[in-house]
Amino acid sequence: MRGLWIILLVPALVAGCAKAPSAGPQLTAYAQDTDPFTTSAVIVDFVEEVGEMPQSIPPRLAAAPLAGRVLSVASDAELALAPGEVVLTFDDGPRPGKTETILDTLDAFGVHATFLMLGEAAERHPELVRVVAQRGHTIGTHTFSHTDLTTLSLSAAMGEMQSGYDAVASALDDIGQAPSRFFRFPYLAQTGLIRTSAIESDFIVLDVDVDSKDYYKETSAEVLARTLARLDAQGQGVILFHDIHARTVAMLPEFLRELGERGYSVVTLRSRPASVFENELITAELPIDFDAL
Ligand SMILES: [Zn+2]
Repeated sequence: MRGLWIILLVPALVAGCAKAPSAGPQLTAYAQDTDPFTTSAVIVDFVEEVGEMPQSIPPRLAAAPLAGRVLSVASDAELALAPGEVVLTFDDGPRPGKTETILDTLDAFGVHATFLMLGEAAERHPELVRVVAQRGHTIGTHTFSHTDLTTLSLSAAMGEMQSGYDAVASALDDIGQAPSRFFRFPYLAQTGLIRTSAIESDFIVLDVDVDSKDYYKETSAEVLARTLARLDAQGQGVILFHDIHARTVAMLPEFLRELGERGYSVVTLRSRPASVFENELITAELPIDFDAL
């Protein structure tokens, strides 16, 4: 069943970062009024209760903190978000002059994101890789040189993934940290075989629910409006941004403010070791009761 699921999923995933707008189908099927926090039904209920139009958003929505739970997963199957929960992801960095400002914005709103870094960028700016980690964000990888892996042999594709990971790991090694297991395919382009091989190589493939398409040559306001509309249509999900574009840097404060007003919470994503290894570790660390032998 899992194999079939992968085969069905792959055509829908071939889209994403840094390709021309014409490449790939739309990821998002627009649903009507599916955001559980901003439906007219919520407002109607509130009005009936207090007998007049609210002067601001209902108190239970305003009280919800923007920073949500920490979700630690060992596989992509465990990445289950509840309605209203989002994960912020930034691909293709780190990029001096952009990534730092994004970190400042995330700090200002008290939320954490996942940065899927390129090996090339990590080699050029290892100090920035370390800053992202030291400020509490999760770091994953995104190949070494942003190659469409479906154009390579399987061994070359796996080499791209591994060299990207190694470059980011090298930057983090100086501060005694390592990248998470999260990996995102460049352009979201993959085959079932490459995806399976990535999982067998201990990567957790991080898919996308809401593509901001912030690589389009548009204004930050247009990116903001589209991303919010797509998120409201889905009501939750992993959101794809890139920390290499000025328009993304510019729209992020307003985007996070809107998330708060609309009642969303930002989940901090972490990776755990694969379950089989984790079980072995737990077994090995159990104290032995010699009297019981
Ligand atoms: Zn990318």
